[in-house]
This record gives sequence, C-alpha cells and structure tokens, in this order.
Amino acid sequence: GVQQDFDTAAVRELDSAHFIHPFTDHAALAAKGARVMVRGEGIYLWDSDNNKILDGMSGLWCVNVGYGRTSISQAVYRQMETLPFYNSFFNTTNLPAVQLATLLAEIAPPQFKHVFFTSSGSEANDTNVRLVRRYWDLMGCKDRHTIIGRYNGYHGSTVAGAALGGMSGMHEQGGMIPNVAHIGQPNYAESGRGMTEAEFGIVAAGWLEEKILDLGPEKVAAFIGEPVQGAGGVIIPPSTYWPEIQRICDKYGILLIADEVITGFGRLGTMFGSELMQIKPDLITFAKGVTSGYVPLGGVLVGSRVASVLIEKGGDFNHGFTYSGHPVACAAALENLRIIQEENLVNAVAVDTGPYLRQKFVSLADHPLVSHPDACGFVAGLNLVKKKAELVHDCEPFESSDGVGMICRGHMFNNGIIMRAVGDRMIVAPPLVMTKVQIDEMVDRIRDALDATL
Ligand code: PLP
Repeated sequence: GVQQDFDTAAVRELDSAHFIHPFTDHAALAAKGARVMVRGEGIYLWDSDNNKILDGMSGLWCVNVGYGRTSISQAVYRQMETLPFYNSFFNTTNLPAVQLATLLAEIAPPQFKHVFFTSSGSEANDTNVRLVRRYWDLMGCKDRHTIIGRYNGYHGSTVAGAALGGMSGMHEQGGMIPNVAHIGQPNYAESGRGMTEAEFGIVAAGWLEEKILDLGPEKVAAFIGEPVQGAGGVIIPPSTYWPEIQRICDKYGILLIADEVITGFGRLGTMFGSELMQIKPDLITFAKGVTSGYVPLGGVLVGSRVASVLIEKGGDFNHGFTYSGHPVACAAALENLRIIQEENLVNAVAVDTGPYLRQKFVSLADHPLVSHPDACGFVAGLNLVKKKAELVHDCEPFESSDGVGMICRGHMFNNGIIMRAVGDRMIVAPPLVMTKVQIDEMVDRIRDALDATL
C-alpha cells in the first residue's frame, strides 16, 4: 500500500486549476479529474486510490529498467552533491558527460564516435534539422535542405519535431516549417492488400524514391524514420522495408536519420533498432531509455560522415542548450546503462522474454475483437475490430466515432493494466525487466479487459 498525506480530491482540483497537461483536452480532464500516480516499483505503479497497476507502457516507452532502482537515485544524489550543474559551453566539460559520450561510442554501431546531448527527443530532432542542413552547406550544396519524414511518424512536439513527424493534428496547431515533406507509412494492415509483406515492404520504400525524384534529388538532405513507429501505433515494417530505404538513400547520397527515441537501448532486442533492421544510419536520435526516464536526457549520435565535416570544416556550430551534457542526467544514464548491460536485458528481450511476449500476445488473435496482433521485441500492438462472428468479412474496423479504443483502455485500467489506445489500435511497451510470469499476468489481464469491451 501507499502512505498518503494528501487528499486526492483536493489535488485533482489544484491540478485542473493550474496545470495544463500535454496532449490533453483540459476541460474534459477537469470534468473527470486526473489519476494521481504516487509510487512505482519494478513493473507496477500505485495511484492515490491505492490501485496497483501493471505498467504496460513503461511510463511513456521509457522506464526500461523498471521503477524503484535505488542505484540510479544514489548516482543522481552523489552527482547533485558534487556538481549539480555546469554548462558545456565556453571550453568546459564535466566528467559524467565525457564518460557517457565514451560509453555511447562503445555501445553504438561502429560509425558513431560522437554525440550531441539535449534534454529530450524533440530537442534532439531539432538538432538533426540544423545538423543536416549545416552538413550540406559545408559540402557546398546550399539547396539541399529538404528533410523527408512519414505520415503518422512521431518525432516530437517542438515545432520542427512536429513538422518532421506526420501527425496532422499537430501540423494544424502551430503550422509547418519550410522544406519538410512526407511519404506514406509501411503499414501492411492498412495498405498491403493483394501483396505479400515482403512485396509491400519494397513498394512502401519505393515511395521514398518517388518523393526524391519529385522534389529533385539535389534538394533532399535527409530521410528520417523510426525503425518501428511507436506513437503511430506500433507499426512494424516488413523486413524488406529498411534495407530498401537504405539502398535508396545511398543511391541519391541522402543522409539517413534513425529516430531511436523508443527503439534505442534494447527495446527491440538489439541495443539499437538500426541493428535489427540492418541499416547504417548517419544520425541516431535517442532519449527515453538512455536514463529509463529517471532524469530527462536525449541526444544525437553523430556518425563519422557528418562528424568529420562538422569538425574539420565547420568552425563554430551555432547550436546548443543550457542543459547539453547535464552532469546529473549523464550520471543517471551511466548507472541506467550499467544496469541494462549487467542484467543482460537486451539479450533477454532478443532470445527469451521477447519471443515469449510475442507468442503470448499473438495468441490473442482468437479473441472475437482482435485482428493483426503483432510484436517486435518489447513493443506490441493489436487492432480492435467488430465481432468477427457477426460479419461476412473476417474483420471490419470500428468507426473512429465509436471510440472503442478509449473504452477498451478504460477496461484495461479497471483490470489493473495500463495499455495505450491509438485510435482502435491497443499497444504495449513494457519495461525490459518484465519476467515470463509477469507477461502471463499482463496478457491475462488484456484478455479480461477485451472480454469486458465485447
Ligand atoms: N521521437 C520519437 C520516436 C518519440 O517516440 C518521441 C516521444 O515519444 C520523441 C521523438 C520526442 O521525445 P520527447 O518527448 O522526449 O521530446
């Protein structure tokens, strides 16, 4: 249980009086009151009504090592006592930042020897925009400024991050930046009719080549994509997709940015998702799992192609954040990565708990509301469809106005599990420490909640 010295109703009132939440209808939230989270341990959370909830989303895809790791809080405490802050502008550096940059260079794919630190994934993708445009300027190609992303991709919430992403609801609020274009997402369930998955992967990658030719290759700076789309609903691309994207980028000399904010640090059963997808990106965006969310930290791994030009020809790089290389955040990351390595979490997801999660999750296919359940490492998703037995076709999506995803999410919570709804797609991304017994518990709870949704 949870020791509590506050009144939940009063906290909810203060919350709606003063706190504007991200991605939230403020008036709607005020009417029902926010859930007050008070404690976490391992894969479980407790709210102020003393509900124990299995966190199927690792917070927001980030608490990879689970809650309650005292060795991380101790590392943070020690660093705060020694040097809570100093900037890395103006010819200074600090020990945790140097140690973390060194460790990242060790565990990243071999082309990465340099890192630029930020405090979030959004800032890291803003950094990418400046980096790739600067790179092409230094290469004497001042027209090469367009970056291609994907519809339903997610690259953050700053104006540039949202522009790279393909969420139309975000483009409508705050507008776009110039020189960004989008192509379709590799969503087989949505667009692959009449093709094998392998064929569809090549077709979907081909949309990149069409867009490059349409814009003019001499205008295109970079392509950015998530190895597996997360916020878009866990869209797992066919295995043919990414190698073909790489081939097209190479053919036109275009920089490849892998946004690994979710897929970095073990989530797909490889340290970085690029390894699983067999691509060799020029830049990797990271955040979330680098500290398991204990302290905000993000950054860009800068591959040798870009780093050498920036360092040898670039002079001043006019970019940076007060908190670039924050010593406390870097200390948290060092301890978090030590845990991931010492507990062999990446290997567990690759060969043990990951395949088990997939097998259990895919077994939900026999449920009358479920189609296309799929998993890759420790991300998984399924589509809610109208009861199969009542239909002529084997499955039919709900109307978005039915709001079934949100209803199902409510039943999930009542069954003690947090799952996220993206339209009518239900997704999980559990902490990498989840055991097989806990996977059984999670999938049982999901099944009960699906029954309640029927
Ligand atoms: N890129 C991806 C792939 C993400 O999933 C996210 C966050 O969910 C971001 C970027 C933005 O990161 P942040 O919310 O830390 O700014």
